[in-house]
Amino acid sequence: MAVIEGDGIGPEVISSTVKVINAVKGIYRLPIELEFVEAGLNAYKKYGTNLPKHSQNKLADSNCVLKGPTTSLEGFGTELGVPVKIRKSFNLYANIRPFKPLPRVNNVARLDAIIVRENTEGSYSGFEYMISDQVALGIRLATRSAAEKIFKIAFNMAKNRRKKVTLAHKANVLKATDGLYKEVFLQEAKKYPDVTAEESHIDALAGWLILKPESYDVIVAENLYGDIISDEAAALVGGLGLISSANVGDNYAMFEPVHGSAPDIAGKGIANPIAAIMSFKMMLEWMGYPEAANCVEAAVIKTLNEGKNLTPDLGGTGKTADIENEIILNLSK
Ligand code: ATP
Repeated sequence: MAVIEGDGIGPEVISSTVKVINAVKGIYRLPIELEFVEAGLNAYKKYGTNLPKHSQNKLADSNCVLKGPTTSLEGFGTELGVPVKIRKSFNLYANIRPFKPLPRVNNVARLDAIIVRENTEGSYSGFEYMISDQVALGIRLATRSAAEKIFKIAFNMAKNRRKKVTLAHKANVLKATDGLYKEVFLQEAKKYPDVTAEESHIDALAGWLILKPESYDVIVAENLYGDIISDEAAALVGGLGLISSANVGDNYAMFEPVHGSAPDIAGKGIANPIAAIMSFKMMLEWMGYPEAANCVEAAVIKTLNEGKNLTPDLGGTGKTADIENEIILNLSK
């Protein structure tokens, strides 16, 4: 597996995760080898690109990647961010983000749901043009094949959960693009008679997520909607320091914490590594090691329950290294 440490707090949370990986490898005798890959701001400063050719080659030689947050340059014409490049080159079409209430965490709402976000098209397709210095144009892409793929993932996930999928859309306004997604969703739903298929306008859903969080199980959404409601859902269940994600394609996957590089706390040793560690837990599931994945999750939950040395975002005064040590101590078969 490849590892990208990333920028800002990335190297701090990935360092903790690598220690957890090595501990879990030892307990379960897993045949996992780590290959570190240069990417992000440091690579940009050194090579003039955030993902140089030798890094792309290393990724192509791996079966999946654990990625710390990387800083993307802003401004029209700057190169694509590292995660976008990786998603595009490996066609990682589904972004899966689980949310659940965790112990000792300030859960604003008891949300226990998974957001499946389409990762390759919609408003983030990359078709943006400056027509003049007064006018900018963006094109929104929706394809039947991308829609079918994410709905299949969403319905299959719901089958093993509380058997409900909600499509977030705005087909009343975006009649062609969201209209196509809605049509495909309703068609796909017929293949899963034991799963309830529900649709909701994205703006209404943003409110209902706060008011009736328990009514959601699997939420499936176009790229931009999925991005926005993921941050909302993260805030509802205790903050970005806890939320993991998987970017999945047919043959490759990238696992990353949902949070960014958090420059405000970088270098202070107080970043919460749980989002990165739980991203590794998702990687273990994808690799086919469910027992090891459960072991990681159980250690995180036990650590939160004990409440010792929690990081400031969780109301404690602990350091990244302290909570990492607690989690490693709590790993057991
Ligand atoms: P970027 O530009 O890379 O997205 P950002 O600062 O805009 O960075 P985030 O990095 O997601 O966005 O951070 C948003 C807020 O959440 C910050 O105030 C940060 O301190 C906090 N935060 C994010 N991740 C963590 C973490 N792992 N532990 C503690 N706090 C975090």
